[in-house]
Amino acid sequence: MSSKTYKGFGSLAIHAGHVQDPMYAHLTPIYASSTYVYDEAEQGMRRFSGKEPGYIYSRWGNPTMSEAERKIAAMETYRIHRHGEPLEAMAILHASGMAAISSLFLSTLKAGDKILTHYSLYSGTEQYLRQILEPLGLQAVIADLRDLTLAEKMLKEDPSIKLVYLETPANPTLQCVDLEALSDLAKQYGKITACDNTFATPFLQQPFKFGIDFVIHSTTKFLNGHGTAIGGVLVGTDLEYMKTAATRVHRLLGGNSNAFDAFLLVNGMKTLEVRMLRHCENAMQVAQYLDRHPAVSRVNYNGLTSHPDYAVSKRQMNHPGAMMSFELKDGFDAGVRFMNKLQLCTRTVSLGTCDTLLSHPASMSHSSVPRENRLEYGITDGLIRMSVGMENIEDILEDFQQALP
Ligand code: PLP
Repeated sequence: MSSKTYKGFGSLAIHAGHVQDPMYAHLTPIYASSTYVYDEAEQGMRRFSGKEPGYIYSRWGNPTMSEAERKIAAMETYRIHRHGEPLEAMAILHASGMAAISSLFLSTLKAGDKILTHYSLYSGTEQYLRQILEPLGLQAVIADLRDLTLAEKMLKEDPSIKLVYLETPANPTLQCVDLEALSDLAKQYGKITACDNTFATPFLQQPFKFGIDFVIHSTTKFLNGHGTAIGGVLVGTDLEYMKTAATRVHRLLGGNSNAFDAFLLVNGMKTLEVRMLRHCENAMQVAQYLDRHPAVSRVNYNGLTSHPDYAVSKRQMNHPGAMMSFELKDGFDAGVRFMNKLQLCTRTVSLGTCDTLLSHPASMSHSSVPRENRLEYGITDGLIRMSVGMENIEDILEDFQQALP
């Protein structure tokens, strides 16, 4: 069934990408095979030359991984048309979000090129820019890209900028950047664009709709949805580019996924719509509850009208998502006390699982970062980061009620 015939995203998420297994298994099995055989030498020759489609070696591709790739490409392009035709994309599954990000940078850039990006990127991406790309002669230029005049000035004045790399909404303040405006500006000055869509998922936001060239996901999060496997994906609408430069880097980097993780991902993605609806509904109620609570000084949730990026987020997202952060008035000790008192919600990093996940960056993920530096990133002493889960809302709120002073 082609994507244009689905009446809704939920049906597409369940069915798209599936190909009937030759042994008639209902679900595409876990193809645990590193290599694939040929009936005759000539067939091997045809497969290697690309004259005959077929698998060769699982670092290059595998039937279980392919199903995940087709499903993600279908979701990211759902109901998007370009020049009157349904938009097509190709997705390449990777071992992790970071491997997908590596493939993007290494396939699009060369020494001397610059990347224009903004504050509040995922910390791993920021470290990758500084620790891996900089020594290779690739420089990241960081600016507040919510300021479109500044963005245009930088794009206009610096011909070395080749890629505009965005993440929206982004940690920890749920800062959002305007995908359409930045994509238009980038096109005007001949730059390519990429967006990390991990927090939103294609159900909430489709960067291709706004003209973005590449989409990245850590599939580890909401796409998998159950916290069972690390994974990542690079998706692009320039099919020729995806089949050549992006495929070449993916194959040679060795950042391939595997059949078991792909199987978990495929089955997780089938429920993306229903999960995200419940996540978002709960998140809005949690945000409103925290916003009224006397122990909380600030709630960072792009679904609240008080959020500085509420308008842009409302324009480009179907729902504001399930991620938020909030600040406890009494700082570091209040953060530690709150975390220790939680009974239902889970104390951990990461995001996008069925249960509500909370972390206190100042005492956990950022405890080794000097205080002045972490304050610069917006990580204050009493900041709590949260991925709102799908429990019954009454249970989440009851846990907060007993854990907050
Ligand atoms: N992008 C975002 C927004 C993330 O939150 C993460 C991980 O937390 C990554 C990328 C990296 O993904 P992975 O951990 O799957 O490599």
